[in-house]
Amino acid sequence: MAPAAKPRVIPRAEHTISRSHISPNALRVLYRLKDAGFQGFLVGGCVRDLLLGMEPKDFDVATDALPDQVKRLFRNCRLVGRRFRLAHVFFGQEIIEVATFRAASAPSQGEEPLADADPEDGEAAELDEPELATESSGEAEDRDEAQDEASEPAVATRDRAFGREGRPLLDDDSERKFDETGRILRDNVYGTIDEDVWRRDFTANSLYYNIADFSIWDYVGGVEDIAARRLRLIGDPETRFREDPVRMLRAARFEAKLGFEIDPQTAEPIGPLRELLGGVPPARLFDETLKLFLTGHGAKSLEALRRRGLLAQLLPSVDSYLTQHSGGLVERLLMKGLANTDARAAAGRPLTPTFLLALLLYGPIAQIIESMPPEKWHEISAIVEACDRAVRQAQAHLAIPRRFSLGLSEMFSLQPRFEHPSGRRSLRLLTHPRFRAAYDLLLLRAELGLASPEMARWWTQVQEVPHEEQGRMADALAQAAGPRPGRPRPGGRRRRRGRRGPRAS
Ligand code: ATP
Ligand code: MG
Repeated sequence: MAPAAKPRVIPRAEHTISRSHISPNALRVLYRLKDAGFQGFLVGGCVRDLLLGMEPKDFDVATDALPDQVKRLFRNCRLVGRRFRLAHVFFGQEIIEVATFRAASAPSQGEEPLADADPEDGEAAELDEPELATESSGEAEDRDEAQDEASEPAVATRDRAFGREGRPLLDDDSERKFDETGRILRDNVYGTIDEDVWRRDFTANSLYYNIADFSIWDYVGGVEDIAARRLRLIGDPETRFREDPVRMLRAARFEAKLGFEIDPQTAEPIGPLRELLGGVPPARLFDETLKLFLTGHGAKSLEALRRRGLLAQLLPSVDSYLTQHSGGLVERLLMKGLANTDARAAAGRPLTPTFLLALLLYGPIAQIIESMPPEKWHEISAIVEACDRAVRQAQAHLAIPRRFSLGLSEMFSLQPRFEHPSGRRSLRLLTHPRFRAAYDLLLLRAELGLASPEMARWWTQVQEVPHEEQGRMADALAQAAGPRPGRPRPGGRRRRRGRRGPRAS
C-alpha cells in the first residue's frame, strides 16, 4: 500500500506512548529542535516498540532541520555519512541519531539502469568485540558510509535543498541511482515528512511521534498493522525488495523479534528475489547477521531465515549442512547455543560474534574435519585448517573481520586441549583470552554428547577452587590418565577419554 498524502493524526489521548518511556536525551533533542522552530519526531523502531510496550533499543529522531542546522543546535554533535548526512548527538554512551527528512526512494518509471560500480563496496566494517557494532545507527543504509567523513562536499543549505514550493531539489542530477536489478546505489535528496515516509520499509517502522503535541502521525496504517501484529512493506513489495534486498533479511528479523506475521503480499516476492542478496556488500550482510543473531531472538531468526530460504543466501554451507543432517546433533547444538545466547542478551550480558560464528559454522567445520583421514581428526593443525576453510566459504557472502575468524580457530583448537589436559600446564588455558568462549563451547558439546561430560565438569570445578587446589586437581588428573602426560600428538596412541576435536558424530 502507498502512503496517504496526509497523515492520520492520533492525539495523545488515543495512544499509549508516554514521555516517561522515552529516553530523556531523546526528549532533550526533540525539545531543542522544536524550540528552534523545527519539526521534531521520534521515528522508526522506537515508536513501534513503545506501542508494543517493549523497551526500544535506541531512539531515532527525524526533523526538517538540515544537518548543519542540527549541528549548530548541539555542541555534542557530529555529522556522519557521505552521501546522506546524519547528525549524531552524543550523551555519554547514548547516541541520538537525527536524520533530516528524505524524499521518496521509489524508482520512477523507465529509470535508466546504471551499470557503474557499487559505491557501497568496500572493506568490511571492523566491529568491536564483544560489543555489537550494530547498536547506534538506525539508518542501516548509511551505516557503511558513516565511517568515512573525509573529503565531504559542503552540505546543502536549506535554500539549495528545497525549491520554491518546498519541493526538494537534488544536490546534483545524479543523486539517486539504481543498478540493473533495481537496487538503490545512491539516494541523496532531502524532503518533507510526507516524502520521508516513502523510503521507510515496513508500515510498523514508519510511525512518527510529534514532540509538538505528543501525537502520532500515521501515513500507512502502521498503527493498525502493529495492533494486528502484521509486517507489511510500504509500496509495491517487489520494487521495495529490489531497491534494497536487505529488506528481506529485515523482514525475517522483525518476524523473529516481534513475532509478527509477514503479510502474504509482502512475503510472496521473497522466494523469487532472494538471490538478489548476492549483490549486497558482504560487510553489510555481516552487520545484518549480527543483528539477526545477537539481539535476543537468534533461535527464532534462524527458523525464520530457513523458512524463507534466506539462510541459503547468507550462509549456504550452514544451510546445506542443516538440510543434509536435519534434526541431528549439530542442529541441536546450534539451537541450544542460540537459545543460550538469547538468554544472555535478555540478561544484558556481553555477546561475542566469535561464539556466534562457532555455533553457526560448527557443522561445516565438523564436515571438513570428517572429510580428512581419521588419524588427523584430533590434530590441531587439521582443526585450524578446517576452521580456515569453513570461514573462507562463509566469506563469499559475509565479510567476517579477521579477529573473529582468528578467535573462532582458537576456540576450536582449545577443544582437544580441554579434553586431554597435560598436567599443570593445562591450567594456563584458564587465562587464555579465548578461555571463556571455548569453555562455553565445551559445555555445549558435552551436553550433546559431543565431548566428555566428566572433562567438562572438571573444567567447571577447576575454575571454582583456590589456586593450590587447581594444581592438585591437575596432578590427580594426570595420574589417572597414566604415565605419559602430554598433549595428544599427531597419530598419538594415548588412551582416549572422550571424543577429540569438534566432530559431529
Ligand atoms: P531495531 O532498531 O529494533 O532493530 P528499527 O526499526 O529501529 O529496529 P533500524 O535498522 O534501527 O531498525 O532502522 C531505523 C528505521 O530506519 C527503521 O524503522 C526504518 O523506518 C528505517 N530503515 C532502516 N533500514 C531500512 C531499509 N533497509 N529500508 C527502508 N527503511 C529502513
Ligand atoms: Mg533502531
